Amino acid sequence: MLSAKQVRDGFIDFFKDKGHEFVPSSPIVPIDDETLLFANAGMNQFKDIFLGLTQPQHRRVVNSQKCLRVSGKHNDLEQVGKDTYHHTFFEMLGNWSFDDYFKAEAIQWAWELLTEVWGIDPNRLWTTVFQGDAEDSSPPDSDAKSLWPKVTSIPDERVLFGGKKDNFWEMGNIGPCGPCSEIHIDLGPDMCNKKDVPGHKCVINGGCGRFIELWNLVFIQYNRNESGELVPLSANYVDTGAGLERIVAVLQKKKSNYDTDLFMPIIGAVEEITGYEYSSELNNRIDNAFRVISDHIRSLTLAITDGATPSNEGRGYVIRRILRRAARFGRELGMHEPFMYKLVPTVANCLGDAFGEIKARADYVSTVIESEEANFGRTLDRGIEIFDAAARRAQKSKDKVIDGEDAFQLYDTYGFPLDLTQLMAEERKLKVDTDKFDELMEEQRERSRIVGLSGSITAKALLSGKLTVTKLPATEDLHKYSTDSCDSKIIGWIETEGFKNQGRIKAGVDIGIVLDRTCFYAEAGGQVGDCGVIESDRGRFIVDNTTKIANCVIHQGRLAEGAFSAGDKVRAIVSKDREGIKKNHTATHLLQWALRQVIGESVTQQGSLVGPDYLRFDFTYPKALSNKQLKEVEQSVREKIATDLPVTCAVMPKSEAEKLGAMALFGEKYGNEVRVVAIGAEDKGQLKEAFSREFCGGTHCHNTGQIGGFKITKEESISAGVRRITALTGEKLTEFLEQRSEIVDELSEVLKVPAETLVDRVEKLIKENKKLAKELKSASRRRGSDTMAEAKKLLDKCEKIDRTSVIIGRLSTTSVEQARTAIDMLKKKAKSAAVILAFADNGKVILLAGMTDDLVKKGLSAGVLVKAIAPIVDGGGGGRAQMAEAGGKNPEKIDDALTKAHEIIKEKLANA
Ligand code: ATP
Ligand code: MG
Repeated sequence: MLSAKQVRDGFIDFFKDKGHEFVPSSPIVPIDDETLLFANAGMNQFKDIFLGLTQPQHRRVVNSQKCLRVSGKHNDLEQVGKDTYHHTFFEMLGNWSFDDYFKAEAIQWAWELLTEVWGIDPNRLWTTVFQGDAEDSSPPDSDAKSLWPKVTSIPDERVLFGGKKDNFWEMGNIGPCGPCSEIHIDLGPDMCNKKDVPGHKCVINGGCGRFIELWNLVFIQYNRNESGELVPLSANYVDTGAGLERIVAVLQKKKSNYDTDLFMPIIGAVEEITGYEYSSELNNRIDNAFRVISDHIRSLTLAITDGATPSNEGRGYVIRRILRRAARFGRELGMHEPFMYKLVPTVANCLGDAFGEIKARADYVSTVIESEEANFGRTLDRGIEIFDAAARRAQKSKDKVIDGEDAFQLYDTYGFPLDLTQLMAEERKLKVDTDKFDELMEEQRERSRIVGLSGSITAKALLSGKLTVTKLPATEDLHKYSTDSCDSKIIGWIETEGFKNQGRIKAGVDIGIVLDRTCFYAEAGGQVGDCGVIESDRGRFIVDNTTKIANCVIHQGRLAEGAFSAGDKVRAIVSKDREGIKKNHTATHLLQWALRQVIGESVTQQGSLVGPDYLRFDFTYPKALSNKQLKEVEQSVREKIATDLPVTCAVMPKSEAEKLGAMALFGEKYGNEVRVVAIGAEDKGQLKEAFSREFCGGTHCHNTGQIGGFKITKEESISAGVRRITALTGEKLTEFLEQRSEIVDELSEVLKVPAETLVDRVEKLIKENKKLAKELKSASRRRGSDTMAEAKKLLDKCEKIDRTSVIIGRLSTTSVEQARTAIDMLKKKAKSAAVILAFADNGKVILLAGMTDDLVKKGLSAGVLVKAIAPIVDGGGGGRAQMAEAGGKNPEKIDDALTKAHEIIKEKLANA
C-alpha cells in the first residue's frame, strides 16, 4: 500500500519524467495579492502568467500546492466533518502547461497515471466535459469530448456533458478562462450519504458521497473581455488540480480521507489527549468532533506557519474563526483547557517532509495556538451558557430563529464568530437572524471608523463621496530622497467639498495642499508622513502630516498667514524632524538584521513605526526576549553604527531584488519596479556584499554612523506570538540619557552618596525600611495589649450603679484605633456600661464615649455626652448613641471634663 508521501512523490516524479519542472508550493498566505485571502488553488501563484504579465520560467511545471478553502468563492468550512472528503486545508497536485502541450496530453497523462501507474480500475472512473452555454455564446468542448475516448480507454458513454458551474473555469469576471474536464470516481452505492433524501439519485456532481471528484483538468483558451465576450487567447494553457487526500484514500482503499495516513496520526493524538475513541462513523457527534479538530489543526498550523496570525480582521479573523470552531468541538470531547497546540508536532510530522517550513516554525505555531486557545477558553463556557439560553428562547419562538442581538452579544462579548453561532444553531435545527446581526455589526464598524478617521481631511472628503480618487493629479515626489526643500507650484487642494483649484485657500481650516512636485515624504511602510511648511512671499502654510492617495501627495495642515491660490509658486520645506526619522529608519533595518542574527531567521516583521522621536518594530517570536538577547541585539546594532557603513538605495525590477534575497514585508503588494535599501554595500554594483537588504521606499541616512547611537527602551508583547521593540537613536537618545543622568545626579544629592553607590544605598534603605516597619508593627501590637490592660484596670476599679459599670479614665495610648477597641472590649466585658476615656497627644485631646444598648434604651447617649463635655477642653464632637468621639485643644482640662462626664452619667442613670 502506498503512503501519502509516496503518492505525492509519485505524482511529481511522473510529470518530471514528462519534462516538467517541480516548483514549490507558494505560501498559504499569498504574498503580493490583496485580492485573495488564502491560496485556494494551484493556479494562484501562476496568475500573472495567464494574465500575460510575466513570462513563465518553465513551459511545463508540476507542484503540490497548499490550499485553504475557508473564505470567498471557495469555502468548504461548513462541509468539514459532515462528509469524508472536503477539508479546509488540502494539497492540490497539479501539472501545468504554459503555451506548450494541450488537451490531448493532459487527458492522456492523467488517465495513464490514475489507471496504469496507480492501478485504479478504469471502470470506476467517469469524466465530464463542457456542454457549452448559449447565453454566454461559448461552444461545447467537442475537442475534449472526442479526445477522451480516443486517447484513453474510457468508453464514450462515461464522458458526460456538464454545465458552466462544474465545467467552465474563470478566474474572475474578466480575464483568462476556459472549459474543464473533471475526473470522478464511483465509490459504490454504499457510500451514498443521501439515501434518506426523497427522490435522491446518485449522479456525477450530485453532491452525495458515491461519486467524488478526484482531478480537474482546466484548459485555458479564452479571455473574457470587459463587454463579457470570449476572445480566443493566442496561447493555450493547461492547469490541473488533483486532491491529494482523496487520491490517497482511494489508493489506500479507505472509505474516508480521515482514515488515511494523512489524518490517522492526528486523530490518534486527539484520542490520546482526550481519552475518547474515534470510530469513523459519519453521523456521530463524537466522530464529527474528531474530524473537525484534525482538519482545523492542519489549517491552523499551515496558515500560521506561513505568516497568518489570529486577529480581528481579514486573514487573521478567518484563522481566529477556525480556531474557535475547533475549540468549541473540543468541548464535545471534554476538553476545557487548551489542547490543540499539542497537536502541532504531529501535524509537523505528517506534513513536514513535503513542507519543511512547518518543522522550522512548529514551536512558534504552538505558542500562538495555545495562547489563542487560552484566550477564547476564558469566555467559551460562559458563551455556551448564553447560547443555550438564546437557543431556548428561539425554540419557543414561532419561526425558530435566534435573535440577532443574542448572536451579536455572543460575538462582541464572548468572541463567538457568527458562523460558530450558526453552526451551533444548526445542530439544534435553529436559524440565526443574520440581518439583525449584520446591522449591529455595521453600526459598530461605523462607530469605530468615525473614531479612527476623525481629523483627516482627505478621509472626510472621501467619506462624503465628494472626492474621486482617480481624478486626483499625480505629484512628482522623488525629491524626497535627495533634498529637504524644493521649489514647486500649488495645483490645487482638498477640502471637505473635494478637490479644488479655483478661488482661494481658506485660512485657519484643515485642508490638504497638492503640489506639482514635492520633497515631502508621504506616510508609507511604517514611516510617518513629513511635517514642515509651504511658503512664499504671499503666505505660509503649516504642514502637520503628509499622505498619499494613488499618486497624489497631500500636504495636510492649515494656512497660517497670507493667502494662497492654485498656480502660486511656493517653496516646500520639510521640518528638521526628517533627520530623526532617517536615523530611526536605518536603525530599524539594522534592528531587523540583528534580531535575525540573535534569535534566528524565523523572525518576521509584523509592522513598524518610524517617527522622529523613536522607532518601533513588531515581529513574530513566541516569548519575551531575555536581557542577554536584548543586550546582544543592541550590541550588534551599535557595532554596525560604529563601523560607519554606507547605505545604498537602488531601484530595480522586482525579480532582480528577489534574486538578491532582499527581504519583503509579508503580504505587502509591490510593483514591478522596487526600491531596495542595502546596508554595507559601497554602491549599486556591490549590493551582493550588503548584509542587510530590504524592499523599502523610506528615507535613510547615507552612512550608519549618522545614526549616532542606539538603545532599546522597551520590549513587550502586543498579541499572541508577536513582540514589540521600542528604541531610540541620535539626539532623542542623547536627550533620554541626559534626563536619566539628571535623575541620577538628583538622587545622589538627596541620598548624599556618589552615583556609583546609589544602588547599594537604595537597597540598604529598602532593607532598613522593611525592618523598621516590622518593628513598628510589633511595637504597636505590644502597645495595643498595654492599652487593653490599662482599660481592664479601669473596669476593675470602676464605680457600679446598680448593675451598670461607670468606667471613666485616661489612657496612655495615642491611637484612637486602640482606644476604640478598648471601648468595645469594655462594653462587652461589663455587659452594661457607660464608658468615657480620654488621652492627650501632642497638645491635643481625644475623648471617646461608649454606651451599651441597655443604657441607650434608657435614654443615655454617648454622642450627647461628648458634645456636652467637649467644650471644657476647647473642642467639639459627637457621634452615635452607642459610640462617639470628640477632640479638643486643652489637655490641662481633661480631668475637669471627665469629672463633668461622671456627673452627667450619674444624673442620667438616676433619672432613667
Ligand atoms: P468539489 O466539487 O468536490 O468541491 P471542486 O470542484 O471544488 O471539488 P476544484 O476547485 O476543481 O474542486 O479543485 C481541484 C481538486 O481539488 C478537486 O478535484 C478535488 O480533488 C480537490 N479538492 C477541491 N476541494 C477540496 C476540499 N475542500 N478538500 C479536499 N480536496 C478538495
Ligand atoms: Mg468545491
